[in-house]
Parts: sequence; C-alpha cells; structure tokens
Amino acid sequence: MLTRRRIHVEGVVQGVGFRPHVYRIATQNQLTGWICNTARGVTLEVQGVSESVSAFLDGLRLQPPPLARITAVASEEIPCAQEIDFCIVQSTAGGHAHTLIAPDIATCPDCLRELFDPHDRRFGYPFLNCTNCGPRFTILRTIPYDRPNTSMQPFRMCAACQAEYDDPANRRFHAQPNACWQCGPQLALLDANGNAIPGDPIQQTIEHLRQGAIVAIKGLGGFHLAVDATQPHAVARLRERKHRWEKPLAILVADIAAAERLCNISPEERSLLESPQRPIVLLPRKSDTPIAPQVAPGSPELGIFLPYTPVQHLLLHSGNFPALVMTSANRSEEPICIDNAEALYRLRSIADSFLVHNREILLRCDDSIVRRAQQHTMPLRRARGFVPLPIPLGRDVPSVLAVGGELKNTICLTRGQEAFLSQHIGDLENLAAYGFFEETIAHLQNILEITPQAIACDLHPEYFSTRWAMQQSSLPVCAVQHHHAHLAACMAEHSLSDAALGIVLDGTGYGTDGNIWGGEILLAHGAKFERKAHLNYAPMPGGAQAIQEPWRMAAGFLSLLPEPQFTEGLACLQSLYGVNTGAMRHMIDLHLRSPLTSGCGRLFDAVAALIGLRSTVRFEAQAAIELEALCARSTDTNAYPFEILAGEPLQISTVPLFDALLTDLHKHSASAVISRRFHLGLARALADATASIAQAAGNPPICLTGGCFQNVFLAHALEKELRERGLRVYTHCLVPAGDGGLSLGQAWIAAQEIASKTEGNP
Ligand code: ZN
Ligand code: ZN
Ligand code: FE
Repeated sequence: MLTRRRIHVEGVVQGVGFRPHVYRIATQNQLTGWICNTARGVTLEVQGVSESVSAFLDGLRLQPPPLARITAVASEEIPCAQEIDFCIVQSTAGGHAHTLIAPDIATCPDCLRELFDPHDRRFGYPFLNCTNCGPRFTILRTIPYDRPNTSMQPFRMCAACQAEYDDPANRRFHAQPNACWQCGPQLALLDANGNAIPGDPIQQTIEHLRQGAIVAIKGLGGFHLAVDATQPHAVARLRERKHRWEKPLAILVADIAAAERLCNISPEERSLLESPQRPIVLLPRKSDTPIAPQVAPGSPELGIFLPYTPVQHLLLHSGNFPALVMTSANRSEEPICIDNAEALYRLRSIADSFLVHNREILLRCDDSIVRRAQQHTMPLRRARGFVPLPIPLGRDVPSVLAVGGELKNTICLTRGQEAFLSQHIGDLENLAAYGFFEETIAHLQNILEITPQAIACDLHPEYFSTRWAMQQSSLPVCAVQHHHAHLAACMAEHSLSDAALGIVLDGTGYGTDGNIWGGEILLAHGAKFERKAHLNYAPMPGGAQAIQEPWRMAAGFLSLLPEPQFTEGLACLQSLYGVNTGAMRHMIDLHLRSPLTSGCGRLFDAVAALIGLRSTVRFEAQAAIELEALCARSTDTNAYPFEILAGEPLQISTVPLFDALLTDLHKHSASAVISRRFHLGLARALADATASIAQAAGNPPICLTGGCFQNVFLAHALEKELRERGLRVYTHCLVPAGDGGLSLGQAWIAAQEIASKTEGNP
C-alpha cells in the first residue's frame, strides 16, 4: 500500500546540504519523489510503503544535516503519483527570499580526515570545506547564496570539484565554496613589505612563530595576530605593539587534550569548545602550565578555542605548539582587519609577517566568546558561528532597525517572528568602527531583504548610534532608555510578552532624569517601563575620569557616609594610592564635575579601590573582574548590610555597606572575605527589594540583565536569593547581558510601540 506526503520545511535549510541529505535518506528508504528549494525553505514529496515513509520522516526529524536549523515542518498526505525515482528539482526563480543564511562553521570531521589523508586529493589543502562546514556569512556579497554572489566567484571549479558539486549523493553537492589545490584559493606568506616569502607558507609560518615572530593570519572573519603563547618575549612584544596592556589574550590549542593540559574543563565546557560554532570559552586555568604569564596576567581564567579552519589545524598539527595566542588583528578598539592590503598597511608596525590568501573576506566577523555559568551558557560576544542566525521571538512583529549603544555595539533587524542581531561591531567612538557600523546596517538589510518601518536607538543624545538614527529623516525614531532596552533584550530572548521585572546592573546608561543609571529595578509592560528601585546616587568626581580611576568612585560613595567615616575613608584612599583627596573632597562638596550615578559597575569600582585592588583600570570592568576573582579564595558566608529606603522608586542605600566595609578594613580582614561579603550583601539587598516589588506587581517573571551579570558569582548568588523567595528567574542565553545585546531590546520595544499604535488606529 503506497502513500505520498508533501512536506514543507522552514529554517536554515539552504546552503547546508539539506537536499542531498534528504536525497540520501529517501533513496535509503526506497522512496520516490522530489525536493526543491522554495521562497520559504524547501518543499519535498515522498512516496512509498507507509513504514518507509514514517522511517524517512523520523530520519529527517532525528538526524537533520549538522548545519540545518529547522524552525517549522508542515506535512500533508496527498494522492500518489507515477514516478520511478527521487530527484532534486531546480530551484524556482526568486527561491531565496526568507530563507536563512548559515553562519561560518568549523571544519567538519569528514573534511578533517581528508585534510590529513595523504591519499586524498585535498591532502593538506588549507581551504577544503563541504556543505557541512566552511565559510558562509563572511563570503556572501548578496543573495541568493550562490557561488557568483560570494567571494568564491573568481575561482572556477575544476572538473573534479564540479562533478562533486553536481552529484546529489556527494557531500559537496551545491557546496558553494567547494575548492581544491587545483582550482581554489591559495595561501602566501608575505614579509612586512608585502613580498612573498619562498617555501611552503604553512611550514614557513610555523618557523616564524617558533622564532618568536608576530604573524598576521587571515582567517574566516578577519585577520588574527598570532604568536607562540609559551614565549614570554613574543607575547610581551605583541602587547606592546598592539597597545593592549593587560586585557587577556585568547589562545588556540590543537584539541581537547591540549586544552585540558591548561584548564579544568567540565563536560558542558568541552561540548562548547568542540561545537561547530567554536567560540572562545573562558575556562578556569590550571597552575604550572607552559603559557607565558603575559597572556592573561592576574586572571584566573584563560580564553581558549579549538581550530575552526583548515589553516589553524595545519599550523597546530605540524607546528606542535602547546598553544598560540590568536587575537583580533587591529590596533586597540579598531575593527578587525579583513583585506590583504589593509592588513599590510594597518598592521605594518605590529606584525612581522603576513599569512594571507586570495579569497576575499566580505564581512568582518570576530570570534565569539562564551562563559559557562552553573546551569547555562552566557554569550559574552556573539559573532562568528552564530551570526546571522535569528533569535526567535515567538510572535509576529513589525520590521524595525535597532542601532544599539555606543560600546560593544551591535545592530538588530526584525522580520516576521525573528530578530537578526549583527555580529559584534565594536566601540563607535572609533571612526573605523563607525564605518563598519554603517556598512553592517546596509549589508544586513540587503541580505535579509528587510525594509524597516522605524528605527530604535538609545535615549543618550550623544551616542554616535543615536545621532545616526536621528539623521535618517525618512523613518520614525523610537528612543529607548538604556536599561529598559537591557530588560527588553532578556524578555525578547524568552518571549516574555506580558509584564516583567528586570534587575538591570551595568556601568553607565542615560537615565530619564538626566543622571547616569546602572543599578536599576525596572518593571516593563508593553512598550513602557517604571523605575521601581535603584542603587542610591553617588557623585562621580571628575565625570568620565572616575571610570578610569576607581579610587575616585570610592571617594564618591564615601561622601554619602556621615562624619567621621567620610574623612577616615578618604585618609585610607590617600595612604593606599598617594592621591590628593583634599581636591577630591572639594569637588564633591561643591558638586563640581561630579555627575550622579546609580551604576552598579561604579559600586564595584569603589569597593575594589577601597580594598587596594587598583587605582586605575586598563580595560572596561577590569576592577570588577578582579574583585569577583577574589571570591573564590574565601568561603565566608556573611553578607554586608544595605538599607532599602521607602519611596517611589525605592532606594537601595550603600551607607551601611561602606560603614561595615571600613570596619573590616580597620580589622585588616582579607580582601577575599570583604569581596564575598560585598557580593553576598548586594545579592541579598537586590533580592529583598525585588521580592517586595514583585509581590505588589502580581509576581511577574524576573530578568537578570546588564553587563554586571558577566560576574558569575554575583549572578549565582542573586539567582539563589530570588529562587528562595519563590521568584521565577530568567537570564541571557542567546545574546550578551551587556551592551552587545542592547539592540535586541531596542527592537523589541520599538516593535511593540508600533504594534500598539496600529492596534489603536485600525
Ligand atoms: Zn566539511
Ligand atoms: Zn577543484
Ligand atoms: Fe549597558
């Protein structure tokens, strides 16, 4: 008894080997029929005995091709037809719209086997790939995703590659970047003047790295700067030339065994390292490793990733390096280099040699970074491997463009039930990053075919992203308060469409009262929010300078204390750092250049400064990161007191905290103890305030968001306190809790605003 079914599949189903995969399982099950790419995904029909059809459907559901992401399947029974085989039908014209473009994916196990197989025709070929792996997003000029629209366009396939490309049973059927030694891109090693260095480029690069040279290596989404991570001089030279002083550098290791020699790795962290997205994973480091101390000075963690391109595999395999430093090739804060000539020019004073190739990178895309918290994975930077996959929103929204914040900028476009977050763009204060920002907006609109109805931006009038939004005169602009957007990002991620309460902790964001917010409890509903509680305001003596010099923030928070503690606290700072606290006091007393902040990041700075951690920071959140690291060195369970002051909004006073902290300082309590008591006290105070607000608001879900939630110790402690109070807690799993996730929240709010207006005036 024959049956026939027609099946529509939506999601990432084009350019990922979906049709040959279906062809294989259909023929294995002796089914006839056809499959074809359509405007919304793929459509297929299968016919055969009903057990075989069920087996086929199970196979499709349980073992989709590795890169496919199925978002919807619809299946119906239809009358049987006369046919003798299963075939792949040519795509209908315009069959690209609304299909999803795949991200760049690490070399798959099949390709890896060929890479190291001396009998394979691609043995050692640095650009091998197949439908299950290789570049996608970064080589795409325009849609549809066909070879002429990618940077593979200049390479004409040889007969052998073409035969694979045309064979539905082959792993390389319609693999657009398909290439081999004969027909594909090639490597070259150049000296600082751009002259080719003779010899095998991989072997020569290994030689240079062994000698301690800095080599700029062209990868998937941009250039890396590489040095041997075990050579202190080489790493120190890289830091000096890159003007990157203390921020940890990511390292590349050959495999899991090599990673385990350097770090303690849980099973979840292991699967993150080995995942096809291959993010940088922050891992607790072991002592006594060969890694140079300059790689991550003072940090209890190392940022590690496994090879994701054939070039990286070849370098580590033949070079036998325990680890290579691989950091984005840029001067600090500039976007990553992608072009050969640009690299030779911009990196001329940094790199000693350049391992380049002749396939263009069309879109820059940095490495993604994740950190594992107890039960979930926190994205810290969302880029290669993840972009341009959408965030599902769970309902239809109007199309909007959200332009994000100022630092760690990303942009976001919505379409249907999905939000497309761009890759990490960077700090827009930097002119080159601003160019990349504009480029990304244009490119994403083009490849996603989205024409936004409105633009969402931050409320801060001085952000470059806000100014850009205001210049687009053709579209309505929706300015969204910074912390409201953080909360909405978490709501969007979890499709929370009713009211939600957010504990939003970060460094800086423009508040509706003109002050600098950042320690907020907000209640969001629809496109609106109410500020329900915040950390008390403290002066930031010197304004932005107080962000670079945490001891100024300590003075700011101490000024909230009564005498004689204020004076005593200042004396303590003076003896720690030899600074002139008299001038500081004058500034605070007269409200000179001392804007008010409720920023939680500034509170961390103040505590770090008081216990003598550091007087200045070299990168964002450095003091807070070091303060968190101290927590592991103590098991103290006491919590410092805070006070919740009644009012609309509630105020969480830090006066009792600093009072208790000064007492501990007088007793010479260990820094680790003080740090723990601070973390635990802050978590408890926030949970108390949240619980009372939640009760009055009908117990909405609680979202934890903002850059401070990269602090795993704080996140755990707060989650625990909230759960003990019977509250439902949501955290970020898909987008960063920090400003990298901001654009998603802006888009979510703007979309709600438009929707509510159209409902209002039908
Ligand atoms: Zn492959
Ligand atoms: Zn070829
Ligand atoms: Fe923020």
